[in-house]
Amino acid sequence: MSPVVHHGTPVVPGAAAGPVVVPGPRSEAPADEAFVDHDHTVAAFAAAAATVAQRLTDRAQHASGAAAEVLQATAAMASDRGLATFVGQQADTLGPASATTAAVEKLAAMFRQAGGLMAERVTDLLDVRDRVVAELLGVPEPGIPQPDEPSVLFADDLAPADTAGLDPRRVVAIAIARGGSTSHTAIIARQLGIPCVVGVAELPWTDPPAAALVDGSSGEVVLDPAPELAQERVRADAERRAASAAWEGPGRTKDGHAVQVLANVQDAAGARVAAQQPVEGFGLYRTELSFLDRSSEPTVDEQAEIYAQVFAAAADSVDGGGKVVVRTLDAGSDKPLRFADMGDEPNPALGVRGLRIARERPELLAHQLDGIAQAARDAGTDVWVMAPMVSVPSEAREFAAAARDRGLRAGVMIETPSTAVLADRVLAEVDFVSIGTNDLSQYTFAADRMSSELTDLTDPWQPGLLTLVEMIAAAGRRADKPVGVCGEAAADPLLACVLVGLGITSLSCAAPAVRGVGAQLATVSLEQCRRAATAALEADSPTDARDAVRAVLA
Ligand code: PEP
Ligand code: MG
Repeated sequence: MSPVVHHGTPVVPGAAAGPVVVPGPRSEAPADEAFVDHDHTVAAFAAAAATVAQRLTDRAQHASGAAAEVLQATAAMASDRGLATFVGQQADTLGPASATTAAVEKLAAMFRQAGGLMAERVTDLLDVRDRVVAELLGVPEPGIPQPDEPSVLFADDLAPADTAGLDPRRVVAIAIARGGSTSHTAIIARQLGIPCVVGVAELPWTDPPAAALVDGSSGEVVLDPAPELAQERVRADAERRAASAAWEGPGRTKDGHAVQVLANVQDAAGARVAAQQPVEGFGLYRTELSFLDRSSEPTVDEQAEIYAQVFAAAADSVDGGGKVVVRTLDAGSDKPLRFADMGDEPNPALGVRGLRIARERPELLAHQLDGIAQAARDAGTDVWVMAPMVSVPSEAREFAAAARDRGLRAGVMIETPSTAVLADRVLAEVDFVSIGTNDLSQYTFAADRMSSELTDLTDPWQPGLLTLVEMIAAAGRRADKPVGVCGEAAADPLLACVLVGLGITSLSCAAPAVRGVGAQLATVSLEQCRRAATAALEADSPTDARDAVRAVLA
């Protein structure tokens, strides 16, 4: 009998099999929890929250990059004064676990109402509640198991802190029912290098099979696979990983067609780590993520100092200095910055975000360009600058003028359907464009990139998205200007071949994905990439597109 196979969105390539484990149950405050008095409730909560925060901080110290940040942010939430105040308000009548639950409920309702990134943080908040309640009840922390043998984790969803705390030697693959390719779970799994499939709607996580095979390249989750099938897939994957580990760049197809392979970075520390990969520089420096903790605008000198560190890391990455594409602040929507806050908006993803902030706060953009130009002057690297969330060619024109006035090479991101269909006119204004497939999907399919219900629509293999990429690449050829991709699509080795076949000239992705992308490109010819692109464009769905491309590239 053939095994049951479920499909989801593959987000971290690689195949692994093993016994299935599921997250531990969460403990609830007992209905008959004893109430002593206000001070007891407050003190017991404070002690439990401090223990939880310390535990998460300890784990953060053993993690790096996005995983460390998520653990630290969750620790900060456990020790947040606002949460303690809300617990204090419940402490006149409730015991500590009940007060924690009631306080978190109130806070979560406020977060949900605020929407955007605040609503996103409800998962973290509920995770903190579960950890504090477990601590108060003296039971094991809920969430991820620590299996003794390499296992496959099935879950409905995972809190970012759970994913960040995973040990890749014990949890060798992840399949989750929710989540999208840009969710925190996906981003952290990618960083940890754990094969991962998300959005597996039919995943039997409440009634799991004994064993499973997860293929993070095809998106398949095979329940109770035959041992030979599992062994064959894992062996083929091990071969692929060995080829990735051995890949040393620069990016080119088997027949020598050059494609720059670059890393996405967000700060100096991450840039130094990324520079250890065989990259030709950084294709997306998300500057807003360098300033998430700032309540006031950094001075031009402060900014220049931070940018200079990132440029120095790029200069170290490649002989003769790599390039860095600096994106100006993409604040707003899912990445609010306190010093560039545009107030409450009913629909922040469609609101005043990215370059649009310069309409009301032109000085923010001017200062940032001054800081970038200042740092670029002494950098041993090629600095390009681009604007996010551009909607019309005139915005590209004005941005390019401001950047060129400062001696910078100017480009824009293509993240809106309007700039995709007017790519010729946008390219006439700038020196290069870079396609942000995460937002271009969101706006093309009218599907929130954060929604775990709509991951089939925001899947970067959607033929509708690829058709826009083809149009933009064709415009780039006509203008003889570079067209890169810097969204999550560029991190998928198979899709990278499709993008190259469509005419993309550079690929920028999370640093841990660089080798997989480069190694895959090295195994195929440009002609195969072109055939793969045609197959993907003609497919009916992302799943069909993946299957068709795999057949072409086999
Ligand atoms: C994108 O939208 O694809 C992109 C690279 O920008 P961000 O993910 O930072 O919005
Ligand atoms: Mg974007």
